[in-house]
Amino acid sequence: MNNSSMIQRSLRHVWHPCTQMKLHESLPPVPIARADGVWLYDFDGRRYLDGISSWWVNLFGHGHPYIKAALRAQLDTLDHVMLAGFTHQPVVELSERLAALTGLGHAFYGSDGASATEIALKMSAHYWRNTGKPEKSRFIGVAGGYHGETVGALAVTDIARFRAAYAPLVRLAATVPSPDARGAAPRESAAEVARRAATGLHSWLEQHHAETAALIVEPMVQCAAGMAMHDAAYLRQARALCDRYGVHLIADEIATGFGRTGTMFAHQQAGIRPDFICLSKGLTGGTLPLSAVLTTDAVYAAFYDDELSRGFLHSHSYTGNPLACRAALATLDLFEQTDALARNRVLAQTVTQAIAPLTAHPRIRNARQLGMIWAWDADTAMPQFSQRFHQHALAHGVLLRPIGNTIYAMPPYVLADDTASHLARGALAALSATLAEEGRGQ
Ligand SMILES: *Cc1c(COP(=O)(O)O)cnc(C)c1O
Repeated sequence: MNNSSMIQRSLRHVWHPCTQMKLHESLPPVPIARADGVWLYDFDGRRYLDGISSWWVNLFGHGHPYIKAALRAQLDTLDHVMLAGFTHQPVVELSERLAALTGLGHAFYGSDGASATEIALKMSAHYWRNTGKPEKSRFIGVAGGYHGETVGALAVTDIARFRAAYAPLVRLAATVPSPDARGAAPRESAAEVARRAATGLHSWLEQHHAETAALIVEPMVQCAAGMAMHDAAYLRQARALCDRYGVHLIADEIATGFGRTGTMFAHQQAGIRPDFICLSKGLTGGTLPLSAVLTTDAVYAAFYDDELSRGFLHSHSYTGNPLACRAALATLDLFEQTDALARNRVLAQTVTQAIAPLTAHPRIRNARQLGMIWAWDADTAMPQFSQRFHQHALAHGVLLRPIGNTIYAMPPYVLADDTASHLARGALAALSATLAEEGRGQ
């Protein structure tokens, strides 16, 4: 088996996500044979540093021996059993530990992020219906927000390229201003941008709270919008407004959870408690698909009844899959065993130092960092910037995939000095090589 035969077979039968397949005529997919730690290896022996944690899912490196051992043991014990009418040790333990970590004591499971979004939206609207306010069935999203791409999740995803073709299928949510700190006027602070955005939310709620079930936010970082970061004050103001107007607050922590922003969960930086938390991506350390929605006793109690139709009848076949739950438990063990949050604070300084030459590049704007997320906006009008940068980075042995003109790194938590400098050198070389093509008809 080599790269080119894998590519040919893949293009014949595999329809790749988020991709115009015709583009693969000139830029074929990269066949990956195996992965170890921060490295992805192709079939021809080349390796790439996984600078974006394979779409933000990996935490402790690929093929972590502790997670692998936990999975093997689970496979020998119980592969899967349906969760309707049955229960098992991994799902019980995981729900207990997530409750202890978040203060939200009831966990409902799905398989990917988008299904967690859908579960939270349905649960919120159904809560209001069960409590005698069925008119509260509309949602609010934040400008530039991303919550997944199934039809229900697209309602609160404000990214035109993902939504435009499906507009007739979607019951659009209201969109309130983003607290993205890059929107600051001269001499305006991030906290002032946050206050301005909260004012927009306030005026919307003032008029429409009676028909609104929930506001959904990505706490601290709107990742898909291009790593848009905001001041924690926004979350405190949003929490207060939701309380005042009787609207649920859903924290979509699918990308920001599990230490990515420096705290275990991003909303904790604002000292608030959401009514729902959506988790996925890092939940299993990047090994298996699993998502969870956590919620409060109050929401749970509104469904607890003799009447079947007042229950939450939502289901997915693989809900609470024991293997995925076991991987999640092993991942939580690794946070404790390695003191990951404290170690990441040190690692973040190492990466920030290593990558300082990119930050200082004259064509870079808005360099920003939170926890284990770094982002830079390249000042260029090249239409193919993202694609060209991605290609050049691969040529330098680094997987980076800018969002528009935003270059970002979201590496696994197991970088070392040498891999951090490899990442930094690759990113800088990719930027120079890409900018060197400017005006060459690229
Ligand atoms: C990735 C992501 C989702 C969707 O998760 P999928 O597993 O891709 O469906 C939802 N919300 C946020 C914030 C995400 O980053």
